[in-house]
Amino acid sequence: MGNTCFGTGDEPNARTAPSHLPSTEKQQFIEPMAATAPYKKPAPSKAATMTTSVLGRPTDSLRDLYSLGKELGRGQFGITYLCTEKSTGQVYACKSIAKRKLVTRDDVDDVRREVQIMHHLSGHPNIVKIKGAYEDLQNVHLVMEVCAGGELFDRIITKGHYSERAAANLTGVIVGVVQQCHQLGVIHRDLKPENFLLADKSEDAPLKATDFGLSIFFKPGQVFSDVVGSPYYVAPEVLRRHYGPEADVWSAGVILYILLCGVPPFWAETEQGIFEAVLRGHIDFATEPWPQISKSAKELITHMLDQNPQRRYTAAQVLAHPWIAQVGVASDRPLDSAVLQRLKQFSAANKLKRVALKVIAESMSPEEIQGLKEMFKAMDTDNSGSITFEELKEGLRKQGSRLAESEVRAIMDAADVDNNGTIDYDEFIAATMHLNKLEKEEHIFKAFQYFDKDNSGYITVEELQEALYSTGVAAPGDNSIEEIIKEVDTDNSGTIDYQEFQAMMRKGLGGGRSRVGMRRATLGADG
Ligand code: ADP
Ligand code: MG
Repeated sequence: MGNTCFGTGDEPNARTAPSHLPSTEKQQFIEPMAATAPYKKPAPSKAATMTTSVLGRPTDSLRDLYSLGKELGRGQFGITYLCTEKSTGQVYACKSIAKRKLVTRDDVDDVRREVQIMHHLSGHPNIVKIKGAYEDLQNVHLVMEVCAGGELFDRIITKGHYSERAAANLTGVIVGVVQQCHQLGVIHRDLKPENFLLADKSEDAPLKATDFGLSIFFKPGQVFSDVVGSPYYVAPEVLRRHYGPEADVWSAGVILYILLCGVPPFWAETEQGIFEAVLRGHIDFATEPWPQISKSAKELITHMLDQNPQRRYTAAQVLAHPWIAQVGVASDRPLDSAVLQRLKQFSAANKLKRVALKVIAESMSPEEIQGLKEMFKAMDTDNSGSITFEELKEGLRKQGSRLAESEVRAIMDAADVDNNGTIDYDEFIAATMHLNKLEKEEHIFKAFQYFDKDNSGYITVEELQEALYSTGVAAPGDNSIEEIIKEVDTDNSGTIDYQEFQAMMRKGLGGGRSRVGMRRATLGADG
């Protein structure tokens, strides 16, 4: 799904929407809004000129010390390259962040904080070690330990066998990272399988946490309210805008649930639906394969996915739970092969969606997808904290919207839930979602056109292959592409047409409640 995060900005270190690119990695919730085209950047604030120095100190030149190699991957801000230290021949990963993408003060603070937090956490065996940070006129570069073993799920899939014990070991590592973060006063805020990479291609390569771009320092008792994360993994109290470090344990609980059955616990066909499921918090232990899973595993999940953050297990409690800590509790018996199959499809479908969202993101300028909060501020010309119809109309017009007055009226009516003739910040968020619905079609089409290189009106295996490889989302030899086609191709034609593509992009991804058919389980493609 898209990315969203938005901040109210009213807590220390608040992160506002890193809204330049609704890429798949971060910013997970507001993609619907971030992807809204008609917004142009409000008049550049003082922030825009802050980006001359991001790190706030002079650094050596990256290119004097390292030579850059092939691209390893892309995220919301950065492109990660393989790089070699000239003096030693040591190989590292270099994440280069284009400074022109850092538009607001908060964006600059985020990058600075990412560097600080990586330094702060460095030394834990399951956290990627930072080597250095460099800055030149165009970019900030974070040089770190390279993880050449690919993503967590891919490894599980290629191994081909899998047990509760294996899932317990992985959970131990993930929650170990969480514990380290919390002990050092950091909330990760974006725990998800994609953020765990394997150090190398060897059988027993350690798992490493990578992206700390959404992480934040906290003090005991401090309450946060900005909504950040990724839909499947977000804790209910984050959606309620009142949370602390406990939210990370929830996300780890979601990962554990997926590790044991192959689909996310809170699933719906839309983001809104996913959020509602998270808030409802019902955990399905009735459907296959749960009856075969040990009581102990289910008990642990229940404690990790406790709606009440005060009652929820801490990282230390999770690590001390018998299923994790005691040999023999989590069994070595292979899990039902359907679990692995679903995991494979979940991972493949997520990859396709990530490429598609990247295409969508890249087809828009950073100006067009400027942060929500700033849009709101720009429109609220009298600083009253609410926007009138006239302000909304004028604001949209200034930002390049081509919407008719009647459409603006429709947005206003939809947004103004209390019918007082104005919309406040929260209502504005809803309004932007609505606006997004009006305009999203063209983005989906753009993404489809990107894949459909020969303009045939459908996507072939080759075209998909090319797109996944060229964007670094999949590597040659990865046999997930045919799986993806099978999942999305509801009429079994062997190709994906626009309708099928659209259905995939519109629907929440990653596993329906129907566990009967794999197809439905992964994409919900037939509704
Ligand atoms: P962003 O903050 O822009 O989302 P990430 O930190 O997620 O950036 O990095 C973007 C991508 O680069 C990742 O999805 C991953 O594919 C790749 N990557 C990041 N760090 C490493 C690393 N240490 N080793 C190998 N690949 C990496
Ligand atoms: Mg990332």
